[in-house]
Amino acid sequence: MTIDSIWIPILCYHRVCPVRERGQDSPSLCVTPEQFSKQMLLLKVFGYQPITVQNLTAILEDRKLPPKKAVCITFDDGYKDNYLYAFPILKRFSYPATIFLVTHNIGLKNFWDSGSLSLLNFNEIEEMSFKGIQFGSHTASHLDLSQADEVLIKKELEISKKKIEEITSRLDISFCYPYSRLNPLAKELVKEAGFICGFAGDEGAMEQKQDLFQLMRIQIFPSTSLFGFWKKLQPWYPKWMRYQKELRKKYKN
Ligand SMILES: [Zn+2]
Repeated sequence: MTIDSIWIPILCYHRVCPVRERGQDSPSLCVTPEQFSKQMLLLKVFGYQPITVQNLTAILEDRKLPPKKAVCITFDDGYKDNYLYAFPILKRFSYPATIFLVTHNIGLKNFWDSGSLSLLNFNEIEEMSFKGIQFGSHTASHLDLSQADEVLIKKELEISKKKIEEITSRLDISFCYPYSRLNPLAKELVKEAGFICGFAGDEGAMEQKQDLFQLMRIQIFPSTSLFGFWKKLQPWYPKWMRYQKELRKKYKN
């Protein structure tokens, strides 16, 4: 594989918590601590090296050489269970990860994804930030950028970026599109706002260097088996995912 065709899997998680605490909200977004722990161990056993989103960006911009088998771990929404259950496991493996926060809701509950789940508070964020976890913006109010006008988008990007800068004392902040929804205008505004990159859902360039503001991520579900997890790390996986999508479209009727 040449440097140009590098593929770094970017894993996308939401919640990590035991089944008994899962509740009725978004069960499809919640892996158990046991599953998460086994997945992190698999990364170690198979020689994967989790990197920060700042390093990912540097590699994709040719400012840094990629380590062998780099992988990036991300969490959307900033749920409190990330602190309670994912953080101890990440610490045990000394893995970096990035959590995308909805800055108006820090210390409160979510209102998206039909839930009222507890979110991280400032103390938890500070402790995690001190111990190797990065934080990025998921807007100020989980705004669907594909539906909002330019003025509102700009405001949400500016407010949330400033807040994350304050919390982390860093200027190299990444962004993640709520609901994985975006359009060319939203993408342009995220770039203009000074974010280092933008994370999307399972749509994005197959060649990551081509578009740092729509980086495709690999979703990890409670139904993902360990073998399934391993498959999702492979460089051929995005092509396989796209092929399956095309098949579904073609044979839908
Ligand atoms: Zn979200």
